[in-house]
Amino acid sequence: MTSQKPALLISACLLGQPVRYDGVGKAQPDHIMVRLLDVFELIPLCPEIQGGLPTPRPPAEIQHGDGRAVLAGSAWVKAEQGEDVTRAFLQGARQALETALAHDCRHALLKAHSPSCGNRHIYDGSFGKHLRPGSGVAAALLEQNGICVWNETEIEQLLLASSPPLKRDN
Ligand code: SF4
Repeated sequence: MTSQKPALLISACLLGQPVRYDGVGKAQPDHIMVRLLDVFELIPLCPEIQGGLPTPRPPAEIQHGDGRAVLAGSAWVKAEQGEDVTRAFLQGARQALETALAHDCRHALLKAHSPSCGNRHIYDGSFGKHLRPGSGVAAALLEQNGICVWNETEIEQLLLASSPPLKRDN
């Protein structure tokens, strides 16, 4: 039987799955999860794992741009020791989009600041914990295809944006 709830693509690490580069997750508090589960069918996905990268793995950052620039071919993703991992990030982004479209997701809840999942700011490529405006590669591809991307500090806005309009009494 299929769920009547709308599907929400969600970064697997936000569910506590140990998929981050450092081998841990970033589980959200239980009361937040209860509210999300009340509204959505959650579709967890980690673009970097889908792109073939292992856990743990060296941290990676986008060089000379953001996810949109990576998609356009004018920026790239490098691990801290210099390995070019752009291909894996692009593959993961495509998998994220394919999964979102297959489940008819209109919204995605992705981890802030990640070179894959970040939606407002990402690390600037210096590996110095400095942020700059921009999206990660998967977030950018989802946004380019009409999917609204939110991060874990924007869950109230996500719930508001996905709630049905109030009926007016005339
Ligand atoms: S790629 Fe996204 S889902 Fe995977 S660990 Fe990083 S932030 Fe989490």
